[in-house]
Amino acid sequence: MDKISQIIENFRKRNIDAEYFHSLNEVKQKILDLIPVDISIGIGNSQTLKAMEISQLLSARGNIVYDKTFATTKEESKRLKKESLLAEWYITGSNAISKDGHIVNIDHSGNRVAAMIYGPEKVIVVIGTNKIEDTLDAAIHRARNHAAPLNAKRAGFNPPCIKLKKCVDCKTTDRVCYNLVVIEGQHLKDRMKVFIVNEDLGF
Ligand code: SF4
Repeated sequence: MDKISQIIENFRKRNIDAEYFHSLNEVKQKILDLIPVDISIGIGNSQTLKAMEISQLLSARGNIVYDKTFATTKEESKRLKKESLLAEWYITGSNAISKDGHIVNIDHSGNRVAAMIYGPEKVIVVIGTNKIEDTLDAAIHRARNHAAPLNAKRAGFNPPCIKLKKCVDCKTTDRVCYNLVVIEGQHLKDRMKVFIVNEDLGF
C-alpha cells in the first residue's frame, strides 16, 4: 500500500474520511459540490483556504459564510468567530497530520480548534502534503517550531521563536500558542473529512 493510501486507511480506522486530490482546484470543486447552497459555513483562518478563495465562492453562490478575516472591527471578528461555532459546516486548514491519522493544531484564541471538536455538524480539513509527518511527535514539533512562528509573524506578533526559529515555550505577551490540540478521531461517523492535496500549502 502506498503512503497516501495508508494514511487514508489510518484515518478511516479513526472514523474520519480522508480523500486525496491532485490540486487545490480539484479540492475546491469537491467542496463546492459537496456543500449544499442553503446552509451556513464557518471558516477557520488558513492560508490554504485563502489561496482557494473558498469563502468568496461560497458566499457568492448564496451560502451564509462566517469568516473572521472579513471582519472590519474587533467586535465583528469576535461575533464571526462565535457564529462559526454554530454553523452547520466548518472548513479549516491544519498545522500538521501524522501518518497514523492524528490532526494537530495550535491556536491563539482557540476558536478554530473549538469548532473542529464540537459544534458544526460537518467539518472539512484541507491540508497539503507538505504537512504530513511520520509520527505524532513530529507533527507536534512541526506545529510548534515551524507553523507557529510563521503564523505569529503573519499575524504581526513578535515572539522569540521568530528570531530563534524554534519554540522556547515563551511566556511573552506576543505568544500565539495557547491551545495545542490533537484530534485523535471522531465519535460520529461522517462528521469529519480530511482532504489531502498534493501541493505545498500554507506553513
Ligand atoms: S510558545 Fe512562544 S516561542 Fe513557542 S511557538 Fe508559541 S509564540 Fe513561539
